[in-house]
Parts: sequence; structure tokens; C-alpha cells
Amino acid sequence: MARKILVLADIRDNSFRNVSFEAIAAAKKVASGGEVLSVLLGENVSGLATELIYYGADRVVTVENSSLKDYTSDAFSQALLQVIHSETPDAVFMGHTAVGKDLAPRIAMKKQAGLISDAIDLEAVGEEVIFTRPIYSGKAFEKKVISEGIILATIRPNNIAPLEKDESRTGEVTAVSVDIKDLRTIIKEIVRKSTGGVDLSEAKIVVAGGRGVKSEEGFNKLNELAEVLGAAVGASRGACDAEYCDYSLQIGQTGKVVTPDLYIALGISGAIQHVAGMSNSKCIVAVNKDPEATIFTIADYGIVGDLFEVLPLLIEEFKKEVV
Ligand code: FAD
Repeated sequence: MARKILVLADIRDNSFRNVSFEAIAAAKKVASGGEVLSVLLGENVSGLATELIYYGADRVVTVENSSLKDYTSDAFSQALLQVIHSETPDAVFMGHTAVGKDLAPRIAMKKQAGLISDAIDLEAVGEEVIFTRPIYSGKAFEKKVISEGIILATIRPNNIAPLEKDESRTGEVTAVSVDIKDLRTIIKEIVRKSTGGVDLSEAKIVVAGGRGVKSEEGFNKLNELAEVLGAAVGASRGACDAEYCDYSLQIGQTGKVVTPDLYIALGISGAIQHVAGMSNSKCIVAVNKDPEATIFTIADYGIVGDLFEVLPLLIEEFKKEVV
């Protein structure tokens, strides 16, 4: 069954988050010969549209409006609903990002539609699209379908590989205007917390510290390793609660979900709430002085030792490897 799938592009600082391309790849997987249409909402963003074509979108709809300069629930949901209304897609996909998590339930409610949240895989089987998503904090996976109406889904970053960028691909880019009114929120200023260069939820390598790091100064040593590896720094809630680092770094059930190629956990015990946010990492390396620490049960490589002795050795060795 051919499907028309609309994919919302996720932009930050005037460039795409990778999950935009991953969601296009997810849509391609189940469009079954139908159309993958990407939607770009913002102000002065139309110039980015061809990038979406290069990554597999068959067509792009751009919506430029001063109310869409920064994300607000009101403006984005109004704009997206109007595009959905005129395009009548069979499914709408977006990243499982702060924007997607806020927007998708609003659209689902307005369209009286079902929503599959945090999908990590999907396949088309006959008339149905079967989604896989984690449950019980990542301890198990469930398969779900939406059998009636429009299918809404958010796609977890770093799980579905984007298509190879192909600059010879062409596709139609159409500008449409929308009517945005009665806004209840006006963004006056955005103040960003500086957490280093690499975005934690999209990072390929994460260096994470726990209460075992013992202090803010101890945490700075992690930054050094992260810098050598081009990694993002993350933390357990234990480390955040102890004020060794900012809560924006927290990984886990009530923090960020990460799925890097390499996750290095230093001084983290491996509580279920932490593991919920990182267990899908492709390779987990744990450093802990307690050989019985739970983190070793999910680690691919474990180092039993004092992290303050291990960390300088890792930095030294990686410096030799990383040019
Ligand atoms: P600890 O459990 O104290 O572990 C510290 C580890 O460091 C120990 O294993 C110790 O052996 C090791 N260590 C100490 N010194 C050294 C050293 N010198 N060298 C090497 N190893 C050393 N937690 C999260 O992380 N993310 C969440 O999103 C989250 N959400 C939660 C939600 C709820 C509702 C609840 C109840 C809890 C949540 N928690 C979360 C908290 C979670 O239960 C744990 O308390 C927390 O993950 C523990 O952090 P930690 O591993 O850093 O600290």
C-alpha cells in the first residue's frame, strides 16, 4: 500500500538536526512507493530545503512566518495542522526531540489520531505500519500499530540510519503561507546553557560521569577526555544532584535518552533509571571501582578501578589514536 508521509524537519541554529534525515529514512522505509514530503517551518529557512531532498524527501513544503522564528507550541501546531489539512498525508513523522515530544501529542489530539512515541524501528506489513518502541525503561520492546486514521509517530534520534546524501536528487520545493493567530506565548529571548560543542542527544560518543566523579573539578577531567574524542559530556542524576554538573547533562528516565556508538560511563553505578537513557548505546565501556556495580552487567567492556587513575590513561592513549 503506497503511503504519503509527511516529515517535519527539526532545525536548530539554522541547521538540521540529524533526526530530520533519520525520520525521512524511516518514512522512505514504509512509504511503499508513495511520497515522502518534508515540511520546513521557520523564518528565513527556505534556503535549507534542498538539503532535505538530498537526504531522500521527494518534495518539500516550506512555511515562512515571523511567528515561527523560534519554536512555540501554539505557532508550530497551527502551522503544521494547516499543512496536514491541505496535504492530507497518511502519516506524520517527526523526531523524538524536545520539539517532537511537545508537538506530536498536540497534533494527535487535534486530529483525534493515535500517536506512537519514541519509535526505534518500523516496517510496513501489508496495510499496516508496525512500529517498535521501548517500554519499562528500555527493559523490553513492544510492537504497535495504529489501525485507524492518520498515523503519528516520533522517531528516536540515532536509531534509524539516514540515507546517503545524494546531491543529484531533485524534487519540488513549494512555499505555502499559513494563518497564525491568537498566540499565547511570545519568545522574547533564548538564553542557552553552554554545555560544550557536541549535542548530547545526537552525539556519536558520550563520556558520562556519576557520583563517583566526586566533584565539579573531577567533572572537568571528563571534559578533557570528551574533547580528545570529540564526544559530548553526560551525567547521572547522582552527579547532577551532587551539583558536580548541570541538570541539562542528565541521562536517563527523567533526563535525556542517548544512543551513541560509544558510551563511556565513569563512576556510575548503573541504576535502572540511568540505564533507561543509555542502554541502546552500541558499545558501553564502564569504569567503576566496585566489581559488583550493576553497570558491568550491561557493559561491553568493563574496567574495575579508580576512575582518577584510569581517566588519565584513557586520555593519553586516545590522544595517540585520534589525530
Ligand atoms: P551512585 O549510585 O552513588 O554510584 C556511584 C558509583 O561510583 C558507585 O558504583 C561507585 O562504586 C562508583 N565510584 C565511586 N568512586 C569511584 C572511583 N573513584 N572510581 C570509580 N568508581 C567510583 N538517575 C539517572 O542517572 N538518570 C535519571 O534520569 C534518573 N531518574 C530517576 C527517576 C526517579 C523517579 C528516581 C527515583 C530516580 C532516578 N534516578 C535517575 C536516580 C537513580 O536511581 C540513581 O540514584 C542514580 O542514577 C545514581 O547515580 P550514580 O550512579 O552516579 O551514583
